[in-house]
Amino acid sequence: MGMKSQTCIGKSSGKPLTEYDSQREAQEGADHVRSAYGRKMSPYQCDTCGQWHLGAENRQTPSTKCPVCTGTDGKPKETYRNESEAQRRADILRKEQGAELRVYSCEKGHGWHLTKGYSGKFSNKKSRR
Ligand SMILES: [Zn+2]
Ligand SMILES: [Zn+2]
Repeated sequence: MGMKSQTCIGKSSGKPLTEYDSQREAQEGADHVRSAYGRKMSPYQCDTCGQWHLGAENRQTPSTKCPVCTGTDGKPKETYRNESEAQRRADILRKEQGAELRVYSCEKGHGWHLTKGYSGKFSNKKSRR
């Protein structure tokens, strides 16, 4: 069974995370949450405590750095493995930051990237609240 963590607090909930000894236990916990609450969670191993916690699945958008593409800030662009993960990240950023992001496939074939606005030309036109 999962125990409440003494060390780790959920970023969004502010409550202690549930910790599990193994990925298998965490997966069972995730299955329980899914059947009981209809929420999709996935296990991840914590950097802080080394135990396993459950994270909301839709926040997990694994990305790597593109070896060839750089953004406007000169840093390597984030690369997503497929279009749906890139789109999911874009949706999260839109909700959290109001950023309008477009998904496109890397010209050099290194997965999928996000870019601001439409081909970068109309990105100055921002609607403010
Ligand atoms: Zn932890
Ligand atoms: Zn690229």
